[in-house]
Amino acid sequence: MARIGIYGGAFNPPHLGHLRAAEAAREALALDKVLLVPTGESPHKPLPEGSPSGPDRLDLLRLAVGDLPGLEVSDMELRRSGPSYSYETVEALRAEHPDDELYFLMGTDMLLSFRTWREPERILKCAALAVVPRGQKGEKEAIAREKAVLGSMGARVTVIDAPVTAISSTDLRRMLVFRCAGEFLPRDVEAEIEKRGLYGAGRSYRDLPMAELEPVALGLLNPNRVRHVLGCRDTAAGLARRWGADETDAARAGLLHDVTKALDGPLQLTLCRAYGVDLDAFSAQNPKTLHALTGSLVAERIFGEDPAVVSAIRSHTTGKPNMNLLEKILYVADYMEPNRDFPGVERLRELAWSDLDGALTLGLEMTLDVLREQGREISPESQEALRYLLAHKE
Ligand code: FE
Ligand code: FE
Repeated sequence: MARIGIYGGAFNPPHLGHLRAAEAAREALALDKVLLVPTGESPHKPLPEGSPSGPDRLDLLRLAVGDLPGLEVSDMELRRSGPSYSYETVEALRAEHPDDELYFLMGTDMLLSFRTWREPERILKCAALAVVPRGQKGEKEAIAREKAVLGSMGARVTVIDAPVTAISSTDLRRMLVFRCAGEFLPRDVEAEIEKRGLYGAGRSYRDLPMAELEPVALGLLNPNRVRHVLGCRDTAAGLARRWGADETDAARAGLLHDVTKALDGPLQLTLCRAYGVDLDAFSAQNPKTLHALTGSLVAERIFGEDPAVVSAIRSHTTGKPNMNLLEKILYVADYMEPNRDFPGVERLRELAWSDLDGALTLGLEMTLDVLREQGREISPESQEALRYLLAHKE
């Protein structure tokens, strides 16, 4: 009697996190093999626009698995037409392996939604469930609750306790555009992605006209940030008109200013490492503030933006002493674009159109007040920016 793991997923693209999860499950459950089964059409969520075809994902997964012992790729779902329902896959494998023990492997999100799937009981009749956590906050508690509910339905659920590479496919696709996904991909897979030009890798993003830049830039954001970025773009362009700066530069800076904001602290640091950037002490300790630096690097190296745009993005969170007009405009636009709502924003909006330095000063003061209130560390650049403004006030 063999023990077989079934690991389904979009594998869009396959990465080291998948391989480590499969290997962790194989060890923890003493599996003879893990079958990796890429989905054709996912009934849960459609693949993001521009995703590679099933055969491309299958090829990448085969490359990723290579000759790793105990891992095998199956194209059974891709060969079926229509949506890939897991119960069909598991029942087909049960029929093929009547006497073996089957474990259906899944991530936490999948476990939490399992009961809403098509025919979950039919899966439970054929296989035990094994969940590989991603190491997120509150995850253990959520898994324990769901495990109890599923247990009452007769499910056997094992939680695999292994440190797993915490990267999502969404972040990985972002890192591919930023050209710093190397840490998370088997080398062959990375090379093949570039060779085939999948996920926008290998494409040039330099000097795109605004109409082409916009979907690319917005596609890299968390969806809940899109409105803010569009608001910032329009406000920056409006302020540029008011104060006599280059409107196009202002709009491009607004559109790109948060382009790396979706990356968490560790991914910010990965990007800096990949770009060969040494960090000052403050940034290394506060990686969340790094999106201004990493955004400026991406604007320069990936999008080929002008130095004026790059430096405005660089200083948009902390400010700096002696800012130029475009830098001031982006800082202020980011602070008071129409979607912002906090006490004092109306005053800031008034000043933005009548006294730009006054708006900048107020913005910096409010930021420092909030940081002090929250007992957080203050960037030396912000302090110097404010000191400079106060010393040079007419
Ligand atoms: Fe920002
Ligand atoms: Fe912003």
